[in-house]
Amino acid sequence: MNIVFVGPQGAGKGAVIKEVVKIKPFDVIATGELFRKEIATGSALGKKLKATMDKGILVDLNTTLNVVKGALKNKKNIIFDAFPRNVEQAEAFSKISKVDKVIYLNLDKQTAYKRLTNRLTCASCNYVTSKLVVKNDVCPVCGGKLFTRTDDTREGINKRFQEFETRTLPMLEYYKAQGIVYEIDANQPLEKVVSDVLKVL
Ligand SMILES: [Zn+2]
Repeated sequence: MNIVFVGPQGAGKGAVIKEVVKIKPFDVIATGELFRKEIATGSALGKKLKATMDKGILVDLNTTLNVVKGALKNKKNIIFDAFPRNVEQAEAFSKISKVDKVIYLNLDKQTAYKRLTNRLTCASCNYVTSKLVVKNDVCPVCGGKLFTRTDDTREGINKRFQEFETRTLPMLEYYKAQGIVYEIDANQPLEKVVSDVLKVL
């Protein structure tokens, strides 16, 4: 079964997926991570990917599909994190595999502001926490330094919401037409979001 997770930044997609896979046996495919793994192998494809990403250019659709296709092997139940992201990718993906369900973590902009402007990220281990929880800049996991992302401002959040709406909402319409979109209220606390997601998986 292939599940696609969709949600704007601040919806807690990564955190929700992490909890879901503790309970249900899914493999997670995240393209960013796949690219990093491929680069680490030093293959020709990896070198090409590194050159593209170093330039800050988006990896082209064919290359992305090839990497995803490779990752699909020997896996039965997969959660896709942040892929496909738009109608073009969704249509291309439909030619190599099938999407059974789309989990849409719907988030209000107000909640996103509240979560993201308080967000702290660890420079060493990427742990994400909140100023509402940690009162200093020391990572509770590894002792590294916590920092605020420079784009976690109202302006930055507006920009990412707008990108999400332009790029991903049409893809949701594409999947809604197939009757496979499950909308979850992501404004709720993490545990509630996770239990709502588990109900529809
Ligand atoms: Zn850390």
